[in-house]
Amino acid sequence: MAILHGWRTCPRCEGRLENDGAQAICHGRCRSVYYANSAPCVSGLVEDAEGRLLLARRAVEPYLGLWDPPGGFLEEGEHPVEGLRRELLEETGLEAEIGSFVGAWMDVYGEADEAAATLNLYWSATVADGDPQAADDVAELRWFAADALPAGGELAFTTVKHALAAWRRRGLAP
Ligand SMILES: [Zn+2]
Repeated sequence: MAILHGWRTCPRCEGRLENDGAQAICHGRCRSVYYANSAPCVSGLVEDAEGRLLLARRAVEPYLGLWDPPGGFLEEGEHPVEGLRRELLEETGLEAEIGSFVGAWMDVYGEADEAAATLNLYWSATVADGDPQAADDVAELRWFAADALPAGGELAFTTVKHALAAWRRRGLAP
């Protein structure tokens, strides 16, 4: 659902909002302005020495039981690379070396009416230290060879298919 959908009064001062969907301006006491943005998410395409990719089986909805690369939502004010290191550590126990930027893809998080727009940023990464241990909202971690990735129907989020395709193209490049 669009962030500002249904907003009529200011959440800070209960003043009247002028809301065009892209921004909502408080005409009450506080004069706050609220913007509708996609929520930024970061993910790591973590490779091992054999060129295999680390994927996580989701332990939570949406897409419970399906596979996606480890990652998550950025916190307010957090640099995306720092956020990615934090998410990789939380979900996999790995200290990661973040590599090059792979790409940005738009998606949604959640079901139908509740779905929030997301901006998904992907980096390549390697393991600096540790062994993968599923934690946080991850049920299982597994290394996949580039030619043996889960089928499309076993992948969470539309974005993941695009990101994995980009990763495979990079791997096949001379
Ligand atoms: Zn207000």
